[in-house]
Amino acid sequence: MTKEQRTLEIIDRLKKEYPDAKCTLDYKEAWKLLVSVRLAAQCTDARVNVVVAGLFEKYPSVEALAAADVEEIERIVKPCGLGHSKARDISACMKMLRDEYGGQVPDDFNALLKLPGVGRKSANLIMGDVFGKPAIVTDTHCIRLVNRMGLVDGIKEPKKVEMALWKLVPPEEGSDFCHRLVMHGREICTARTHPYCERCCLSDICMKAGVET
Ligand code: SF4
Repeated sequence: MTKEQRTLEIIDRLKKEYPDAKCTLDYKEAWKLLVSVRLAAQCTDARVNVVVAGLFEKYPSVEALAAADVEEIERIVKPCGLGHSKARDISACMKMLRDEYGGQVPDDFNALLKLPGVGRKSANLIMGDVFGKPAIVTDTHCIRLVNRMGLVDGIKEPKKVEMALWKLVPPEEGSDFCHRLVMHGREICTARTHPYCERCCLSDICMKAGVET
């Protein structure tokens, strides 16, 4: 089986295992996902979902959050960690959306990358989840799993993993595939020394099955 064939087989099996692939950050509007994604750095999605409920209640629009006192944003988002820099990024990002994009989130990858606090991972997430465009989101689960599975060989740098996956994963499958990697990474292919290979639907085709990684 070639690496390309294995990738398609893995995509197919994970689809059956996790039919409802979706982002675990709660959001109804694109700008809210942008805020949540920034807060999710080094924080759990569950905690972010709780914190943003209070933030969006107080500041229910891009304009309101752009006009908010940055210290007040910091006070609210502090439970997510890195409150100082996250609050500043969120404030600057909302101001840019208000001033340059009429309060809308741009559906252009390079424009997203120019927003304060938005890196490739976040920009890809927005492109895939909000706009339904091709996306590869290389978070910590994705990087760990595709290395274990042997879809990339010892590559840890997120952008390099992303570029390698663009060559293997059909564009329309990328976004959901990455969500499923997160689900599989949380439940089965965990970050512990020995993942639960004995319970894994990929154990017969995974390069690292049962091998200490
Ligand atoms: S077989 Fe093991 S290492 Fe491979 S994806 Fe499954 S849990 Fe992870």
